[in-house]
Amino acid sequence: MKAHDGMYIDGAWRPAAGPDVIEVVNPADERVIATVPAGTVEDVDAAVRAARAALPGWAATPPAERAARLAALRDGLVARRDEIAETVTAELGSPLKLSQTVHAGVPIAVTGSYAELAATYPFEERTGNSTVFHEPVGVVGAITPWNYPLHQIVAKTAPALAAGCTVVVKPAEDTPLVARLFARAVHEAGIPAGVFNLVTGLGPVAGQALAEHPGVDLLSFTGSTAVGRRIGAIATGMVKKVALELGGKSANVILPGADLARAVNVGVANVMSNSGQTCSAWTRMLVHRDQYDEAVELAAAAAAKYGDRIGPLVNAGQRERVRGYIEKGVAEGARLVAGGPDSPHERGYHVSPTVFADVTPEMTIAQEEIFGPVLSVLRYADEEDALRIANGTVYGLAGAVWAGDEAEAVAFARRMETGQVDINGGRFNPLAPFGGYKQSGVGRELGAHGLTEYLQTKSLQF
Ligand code: NAD
Repeated sequence: MKAHDGMYIDGAWRPAAGPDVIEVVNPADERVIATVPAGTVEDVDAAVRAARAALPGWAATPPAERAARLAALRDGLVARRDEIAETVTAELGSPLKLSQTVHAGVPIAVTGSYAELAATYPFEERTGNSTVFHEPVGVVGAITPWNYPLHQIVAKTAPALAAGCTVVVKPAEDTPLVARLFARAVHEAGIPAGVFNLVTGLGPVAGQALAEHPGVDLLSFTGSTAVGRRIGAIATGMVKKVALELGGKSANVILPGADLARAVNVGVANVMSNSGQTCSAWTRMLVHRDQYDEAVELAAAAAAKYGDRIGPLVNAGQRERVRGYIEKGVAEGARLVAGGPDSPHERGYHVSPTVFADVTPEMTIAQEEIFGPVLSVLRYADEEDALRIANGTVYGLAGAVWAGDEAEAVAFARRMETGQVDINGGRFNPLAPFGGYKQSGVGRELGAHGLTEYLQTKSLQF
């Protein structure tokens, strides 16, 4: 067990204002592996002041120099790749391979993409007799969740730094260790003091203090819809800019001409990856009624193969929450064809890969975000029915369409009320804008669209 001191504020690890600590637990064996300081209002205030003081210098730093610092940060993350992966595995419980490829690999790719964008983005342009400048919004308060702990920090910090903003991050209580590692990489990359600051702490204390701080110009939050709604209201009440990345209940629509086995197998993998703790997971599989029984059989077999290959959920509370949804699914009449609330593991917050058949659109498990390894398979009668079901939740974050003909899949995807759709198993693209329609959020992350969130425009007329 390691007791970590200090928080990264104004370019140094300074002692926390208060004595309280947060215990970090390894969800695979339920052991306390570390403690970190629980930041208070004073710590948040010190971090925001440092970010404000650093803002004029960083905003005036030429984009090419900001790009060079981001490239150095990317290189530092590459050098620490194994350490990042081991840290995420220890505090999130994800299998080491997933930690290496996704939890370390994606943030490296995203940091690299912003090193390039900072160098090439048109921060100044002409229109008619005007020059338009894209200037940094200012001090960014970033509140992040535990599910992709480094990615969520990087998806906010890298574009903010590219834009010339300064940042205060409040990471999730469950996963503060990789956030500390990131702060060390920022320091080593020569990013000036105060440009990036890290305050570990509890959501209702340190998170709330950041949302309420008058020195924060933009609040960027990823997490639950309930918290997002509350702190979004606080921030907009103070006329701050707000970016919210909230929940999802994404549809994986398999049209009759698709390669059914591939669509089902990739769909199951998408849901089970990271133990289902992915806001964009395709948790509703929509299958034509003529192919339904075959798809259910394929999905159950695919889920059973996952058995031990997925990690635990992040904490006991999440495991209870997910078990509660599974019990609710059974109670509402869905048919369990794989998994269930119990797990063969004696230790760790495990839930078995679970598949429900005979799920109807109004059931709780077809409407609410479960955030666990639970797939609902729904049947549709025709394309219009499929579209109605796909669009029939309050969410609209991601989705997938499979069809024999790509144009058919694209035509369907264009009618979906959602921010991102994979066509016939499309690959992750770190430059593609990611974010929600409807109650899945406000704003976009990643790529050039993610950068514009951190910019405001000024025009000069001649
Ligand atoms: P959460 O919304 O409680 O936590 C996310 C972040 O917000 C954390 O850093 C937390 O400390 C902070 N926070 C919590 N309360 C706050 C407050 N009052 N003021 C300011 N900040 C606060 O999410 P959670 O409890 O970790 O997860 C619960 C559910 O949220 C999950 O089951 C899932 O449905 C959803 N979730 C979604 C995402 C996503 O990527 N969209 C990620 C994680 C969780």
